[in-house]
Amino acid sequence: MNPETHERARRLIDARDVEGIDDHERMWLEAHLAECTACQVRARANERALQVLRSNSVTVAPLLVSATQARVRQRARELRENQVRMRALWISCAFSWVLGVASAPLVWRVFQWIGLHAALPRMIWETAFALWWLVPAGAVAAVIAWNQRRVESLDDYGPLHR
Ligand SMILES: [Zn+2]
Repeated sequence: MNPETHERARRLIDARDVEGIDDHERMWLEAHLAECTACQVRARANERALQVLRSNSVTVAPLLVSATQARVRQRARELRENQVRMRALWISCAFSWVLGVASAPLVWRVFQWIGLHAALPRMIWETAFALWWLVPAGAVAAVIAWNQRRVESLDDYGPLHR
């Protein structure tokens, strides 16, 4: 048989399985396949390959898609929760700062009074006043730093990167 005949048959097999062929081509191909074993083998291999492709795209892809969507949603939720926590932290920071500034003159007088009545050196009660300011601010800074590190470690080992 003419090699161009098999070539035509193979082109039609590929076309039939993918975009379809017209009746005239189909009849010609069926007649050829009836008498050519090599092209029959080729046609069956094509069908199997397409079946594998189709079954994969039906069973694996939706699982993969839903798993990926779930991970993306989970990550978005984590980011949102973290944003809310950070906002609350900043609001309480601002609030405590305003409160601190407002109460500073009073606190200063209290420390001064204690210093005078306990006959403490000025440096001691001034240092105590400074610590009164520094310790809460330091605690807040530590909480913010801890939270920031936690967020960064979520980025490194978060569900999206598992
Ligand atoms: Zn053939």
